[in-house]
Amino acid sequence: MGMRVPGWVGGLVEESFFVGCEAHESRRKNEKNIFCLACCTSICPHCGPAHRHHPLLQVRRYVYNDVVRLGDLEKLIDCSYVQVINLITRYICVVLLIYLS
Ligand SMILES: [Zn+2]
Ligand SMILES: [Zn+2]
Repeated sequence: MGMRVPGWVGGLVEESFFVGCEAHESRRKNEKNIFCLACCTSICPHCGPAHRHHPLLQVRRYVYNDVVRLGDLEKLIDCSYVQVINLITRYICVVLLIYLS
């Protein structure tokens, strides 16, 4: 039984969130709190329209950790095929999906 971690999980761990978006420095509410699974990058709400056809994941703040909600992941991925594990990497707590094949 092999395990496959989707490529975007690495991006989710590497990206920083809740920092200002370089592309929208002059705009208010430019904190990057969305992760685009297609582009494997963090984006701010102003970047959203450019990615509206991509699967997007809302990142939330929970006690100094950046977290994603399982419910949000379920909308994107069929969780009947995945085992969900909480992984704390650096300051970031992400929900890591392990595909069981
Ligand atoms: Zn995108
Ligand atoms: Zn932006």
